[in-house]
Amino acid sequence: MARRRQLYEGKAKILFEGPEPGTLVQYFKDDATAFNSQKKGVITGKGVLNNRISEYLMVRLGEIGIPTHFVRRLNMREQLIREVEIIPLEVVVRNVAAGSLSTRLAIPEGTRLPRSIIEFYYKNDALQDPMVAEEHITAFGWATPQDMDDIISLTLRINDFLGGLFLGVGITLVDFKVEYGRLWENEDMRIILADEISPDNCRLWDAKTNEKMDKDRFRRDLGKVEEAYQEVAKRLGILPEAGTRDLKGPELMQ
Ligand code: UDP
Repeated sequence: MARRRQLYEGKAKILFEGPEPGTLVQYFKDDATAFNSQKKGVITGKGVLNNRISEYLMVRLGEIGIPTHFVRRLNMREQLIREVEIIPLEVVVRNVAAGSLSTRLAIPEGTRLPRSIIEFYYKNDALQDPMVAEEHITAFGWATPQDMDDIISLTLRINDFLGGLFLGVGITLVDFKVEYGRLWENEDMRIILADEISPDNCRLWDAKTNEKMDKDRFRRDLGKVEEAYQEVAKRLGILPEAGTRDLKGPELMQ
């Protein structure tokens, strides 16, 4: 197969030129990084699972009217997406204290928050993605106040929906990160959900035991990393038919 032109390589994904204008192909790698790339590793089969998990969640979100960049899955590691102008923000939602919130404000991990909290981080590797306020975002023109209204309302809807969806399969949605992009249609601009939603950018805990089922298993060397990603896919009912055996298998197989 003719190789597509590569446009960008990130830590966990590669973007290729898409088959038609306005589209891209998003390829999911097994590479994992943590702590601003100081820790690097490979989680075997992660790309295959994240491709499926992100597809599943974006399709479900599309069904409740959340606009997303997802078009269709192409094969085990690739999906066709709409090309957007990425807004340089990581939007984090938290339902339960964990990670940097717990460290920064000394709130014990596992504390249920009185309400969901949204935080913004400026996407900039050189600055290590600093946390910013809406004031910075609008003052520096990364997004307009109208964009922020859209981003906040979409994010709260996504959180409510995904929180319920995960709870239905015995998983607590502790926190997660999303990214948005601008989609231009003639003179009109819409903000749509971009990037991916997977155990790489969510904290997912077993609802009964609080066992971690996400990238924290890699970050904190807890072991059973591959198994955790597989378990999330299994509970969502989307583990590839062949089970876990073929996760490294031919990339073009469905
Ligand atoms: N997150 C992410 N990418 C980042 C930073 C955070 O996907 O660059 C996700 C992370 O997986 C978690 C949530 O955002 O689900 C909140 O992360 P936190 O601020 O606690 O940072 P961390 O402890 O992961 O450094």
